[in-house]
Amino acid sequence: MGLLYLGTPLTWEEAKKHADHVRTHGITQFLHTWDRLKDRHGDELLWGDEVEYLVVALDDEKKDARLSLRQTEILEKLSSISSLISADCPESISVPTFHPEYGRYMLESTPGSPYTGSIPDLLSVEANMRYRRALARKHLQRHEIPLTLTSFPRLGVPGPFTEPYFDPANAKSSHSLFLPEEITNPHARFPSLTANIRQRRGSKVAINLPLFFDTETPRPFVDPTIPWERSLYPEDPGEQLFSAPRRRLTSVSEAKAGAALTDHIYMDAMGFGMGCCCLQLTFQACHVADARRMYDRLIPIGPILLALTAASPVWRGYLADVDCRWNVIAGSVDDRTEEERGLKPLKNSRFQIPKSRYDSVDLYISTDSMNRPEYNDNPLPIDQSIYSRLREHGIDDLLSKHISHLFIRDPLVIFSETIDQDDEKSSDHFENLQSTNWQTLRFKPPPPNSPIGWRVEFRSMEVQMTDFENAAFAVFVVLLSRVILSFNTNFYIPISKVDENMARAQQRNAAQAGKFYFPKKMQNCFPDPPPLEIGASALPVEEEYEEMTMNEIMNGKGDDFPGLLGLITAYLETLDIDPDELAKIHDYLDLVRRRADGSLVTPATWIRNFVRSHPAYKHDSVVSAEINYDLIVAVDEIERGIRKADDLLPANYTGSKEDSGSIGL
Ligand code: ADP
Ligand code: MG
Ligand code: MG
Ligand code: MG
Ligand code: MG
Ligand code: MG
Repeated sequence: MGLLYLGTPLTWEEAKKHADHVRTHGITQFLHTWDRLKDRHGDELLWGDEVEYLVVALDDEKKDARLSLRQTEILEKLSSISSLISADCPESISVPTFHPEYGRYMLESTPGSPYTGSIPDLLSVEANMRYRRALARKHLQRHEIPLTLTSFPRLGVPGPFTEPYFDPANAKSSHSLFLPEEITNPHARFPSLTANIRQRRGSKVAINLPLFFDTETPRPFVDPTIPWERSLYPEDPGEQLFSAPRRRLTSVSEAKAGAALTDHIYMDAMGFGMGCCCLQLTFQACHVADARRMYDRLIPIGPILLALTAASPVWRGYLADVDCRWNVIAGSVDDRTEEERGLKPLKNSRFQIPKSRYDSVDLYISTDSMNRPEYNDNPLPIDQSIYSRLREHGIDDLLSKHISHLFIRDPLVIFSETIDQDDEKSSDHFENLQSTNWQTLRFKPPPPNSPIGWRVEFRSMEVQMTDFENAAFAVFVVLLSRVILSFNTNFYIPISKVDENMARAQQRNAAQAGKFYFPKKMQNCFPDPPPLEIGASALPVEEEYEEMTMNEIMNGKGDDFPGLLGLITAYLETLDIDPDELAKIHDYLDLVRRRADGSLVTPATWIRNFVRSHPAYKHDSVVSAEINYDLIVAVDEIERGIRKADDLLPANYTGSKEDSGSIGL
């Protein structure tokens, strides 16, 4: 989430009157940045990670694990002692920063300053992440733990799942049947975002995840934990049941014909999605063209790494038939009107929009010759007047389309104090739209008044339960980004196929059982490639790619497809790396290799297996409070290295139990 400005947020009715103002000035701000920095050159590779945590409060006597809603106090404490931390921080580690997130039980941490592209920096990531976790752990209460778990399994179950307990009846921003108002970060931005998404959409958000049917799960499944009788808010089933005169619903099965589907896990609030944790990486490129190249090449990698990091198989107390958070978040902030969703003819809305604001990228933007126009085969609504304005300013077609596609959205939260800005000095209005287009990749222009250059953020991955795994995926993506730039690889496939891969990536067990569209050749992938003349690509686009298993994509296939790990190994061979350092890098790459070949499972599979083999599990898809408690304890113990999980982690994984001892603070 961006910087938190303290001010007065406008209601949706007020905010929408300023939408054109924010868009117009947002574009002016972008153009100022463009004019200043389009020719900027020579920025070094800097990069950094973001790790998100759930804070869980354990009651060991009652065997209960709940989300602790103390984010504000925890962050205050961590920032009030930051000078002490900086005195205590090991020399090799920059003083980390902790940030608020959507959920009032969440924390985010980043390294205090970005890493460079050096191998020692690459190898310092795990220690940095562990230090940050140990620091957070140290400043929690004794019964609280920081967990890097993508979704909290019992978020939104009936009865208490937070500490302290709050009643969902007071959920005035979301109108949720399940999540209380207090689940949300109290900073004005977050409740406003929640309420304004609901109001813009014209109804509550509605997420239906397919349920995992186990041997004892009733079929059809009509969720008994949905409060069908509640009638507090207009969208409540009870309201529809009793007060809708023209369609008087008489039974539960008719009521569910509303937003909740049978055989699904129904969720109805932003918190179900934005309350999830992920692992993000941001890379600085040496100039804007390289940033665009890196952005494009990483787009097809997004779904692949989503599948390989899959970590969220349990939702609202049920096992789901999916392994990932992605569609939950997409649904949880889907502010499109019925007209925009194509359910009604366009009358008041301007566009039909195929996707939520939180979804996969729609457009490749690199200007190099490998980016064939055929790859951009997704429907792409754009704001035509913004497109023309950008073109008239001299910006090329693809970048103009990219921006004018982001700008089909409305700004959701506007603070009355900051409506008028100095467009040469501020990028707030630009960022208002940019940072609420939550896509798999984000192309980040340099902020004004800062030394930061053109960056690309990789956003699809689920956070892993241990920092060893988080570091491994960070190392993998950093090295892949180096391969992309040094070998000038070609990962392009039609962007509609990337979307198909996104859908497949979330399916249960996709890393082992799934197949994904991927380029057959990754041509130009070794140093000094034979030059490919513009327009010389002989093959029709459909013949350039095929369906591959995760193992093939990562570990290679036949003689001329080295796999992504093969490319990385070839790249490492071009460097002069100390053998010990190289061995360490290979420890990380081995985790990726073994997940891909199936000799290690994804966190999602591990969690699903844990639940299904728990003695209290009744094979009915229900993850009870007791199972949840044991799961949370197990995850924490694995992280600390006091419990083995040989199907998830390499046998020599030692865990973080030593780290906290070395922290003075
Ligand atoms: P956001 O939440 O907007 O995505 P954050 O500030 O939380 O961004 O995280 C940005 C990440 O980018 C951090 O890991 C930070 O270390 C890293 N970073 C900071 N400056 C640069 C830079 N110039 N180039 C690349 N990465 C950077
Ligand atoms: Mg975050
Ligand atoms: Mg962040
Ligand atoms: Mg942010
Ligand atoms: Mg503690
Ligand atoms: Mg981020």
